[in-house]
Amino acid sequence: MGLKTKEYYYEIASKLTFQTKAVIDGELCDASDGKTYKDYNPGTGEFITEVAYCSVEDTERAIKSARRAFNEGVWKDLNASERKEILFKFSKLIAENQDELAVMESIDSGKPINDTYLGDIPDSVLTINYYAEAIDKIQDEMTVGDKNHVSMIVKEPIGVVAAIVPWNFPLLMYIWKIAPILATGCSVVVKPATVTPLTALRVAELALEAGIPAGVLNVVPGSGSVIGDYLAKHPDIDAITFTGSTQVGKGLLGCSGESNAKRVFLEMGGKNPGIVMPDLKELDNAVQHAVNAVFWNMGENCTSNAKLLVHNSIKEEFVRRVVEETKANWHTGDPLDPKNNLGAIIEKGHMQKILDYIEIGKKEGAKLLLGGEQILKETGGNFIAPTIFDDVTPDMTIAKEEIFGPVLAIIGFDTEEEAIALANDTEYGLQASIYTDDLSTAHRMARAINAGTVSINCYAEGDITTPFGGFKQSGFFGRDKSLYSYRQYMEIKTIWIQI
Ligand code: NAP
Ligand code: MG
Repeated sequence: MGLKTKEYYYEIASKLTFQTKAVIDGELCDASDGKTYKDYNPGTGEFITEVAYCSVEDTERAIKSARRAFNEGVWKDLNASERKEILFKFSKLIAENQDELAVMESIDSGKPINDTYLGDIPDSVLTINYYAEAIDKIQDEMTVGDKNHVSMIVKEPIGVVAAIVPWNFPLLMYIWKIAPILATGCSVVVKPATVTPLTALRVAELALEAGIPAGVLNVVPGSGSVIGDYLAKHPDIDAITFTGSTQVGKGLLGCSGESNAKRVFLEMGGKNPGIVMPDLKELDNAVQHAVNAVFWNMGENCTSNAKLLVHNSIKEEFVRRVVEETKANWHTGDPLDPKNNLGAIIEKGHMQKILDYIEIGKKEGAKLLLGGEQILKETGGNFIAPTIFDDVTPDMTIAKEEIFGPVLAIIGFDTEEEAIALANDTEYGLQASIYTDDLSTAHRMARAINAGTVSINCYAEGDITTPFGGFKQSGFFGRDKSLYSYRQYMEIKTIWIQI
């Protein structure tokens, strides 16, 4: 499915209708106190629609309906093939609505249509299908035992899960969470990010249409610090799965300890290195990946390779080509125009935070090679030019802190040991990319770097079959994607039978 024209996407946008109600116990409903909030388009600054603003009472109702659905077994006790068929139908409905969903995601989040149409939507479909296919392939086990006993290890769905998701991949992160949760037979209450509720709400409607029973998938838009916190402390939530900031994630651990020791799976921040080794004979591939690694999704990406470590022997040439590649191929502007691969920054407040980091970079003595400012102000949208700093030193703020914007910090190094030390000199450990022609160097460095994913000669997060998550303060306990994620939503039970 190739990209279509800007006019085509504008046409779709002009006809979009929005599902703005909460989804609780199989019903689309307003907040019980009637409250709504305004949702805006980061690409234009325009008001999109009013969305239900759920209260603690609404959240309580969602938790009760999820519990009832779980205890009554309306979903978990279906035959595996029935659950699988319903999930396939669910993914098919998403695929059938791909144009509408891609446009909705773009206008709600500022993400370029290139990414939502070619990435987020098809990846969501693939993710649901992957977990649907797993349902009847994950088997229980029997142990050796002895002639008087049969011993079994069985896996059971964990129960009611709360999923709290961020605004940078509003649909895909939601699907990464709910697909394995639903496949295992759990029920779920989702809290989307306040600024990007639209695709989560629409897709929950599609889930009902596909036949996912009432109460199994609930979506409550509303405040993180109110209803997110309520979910995290609730004694009847068995697990919480979260993607977002390290600060909020750490708070959720406290909520678990204060309440019922619910399982906590956290995907959090990152300050990820790209490392360019001196043996590289051909630079083009590394240049393209290094640029994509930092500017993809406007740098609002937890695996953004915002810290580029380049061996000093090739640094001048490499940096020149990084700047050239960015100028030639990374266009910023209207998210609905397929010629742009950098869209809008999520909110004015976040844009200001990125601009402040840029100012700090200048003040601390980094050399600004490109960008460094807000652009396209006349559009009303939040746009920052892709920004490249050279001569960054490891002690500078822009080398250390997660900026979550289109800002690249380039640091030179002289030895492999130095590169590894620089790469690991962070409280995070999510992803790293290494560019080298030498197989031994690649293996050695991949092992030495403390990160959940290390990609070689590309910037990558793997695919649906590989686990995604972080070391250190990038993550806690859980993984998204792969069968590791599926298993984390199941408890393990031993059954010991005397015969
Ligand atoms: P955030 O403020 O942590 O928000 C994430 C989610 O948590 C939102 O739904 C938010 O609701 C909710 N929330 C906020 N305060 C809460 C609280 N006290 N209790 C419970 N829930 C609460 O992060 P963000 O600004 O959306 O996203 C940016 C951050 O996410 C970055 O730091 C980035 O690195 C990280 N991230 C990590 C990954 C990963 O996989 N490791 C992926 C993407 C993003 P509201 O919207 O209502 O505030
Ligand atoms: Mg929005």
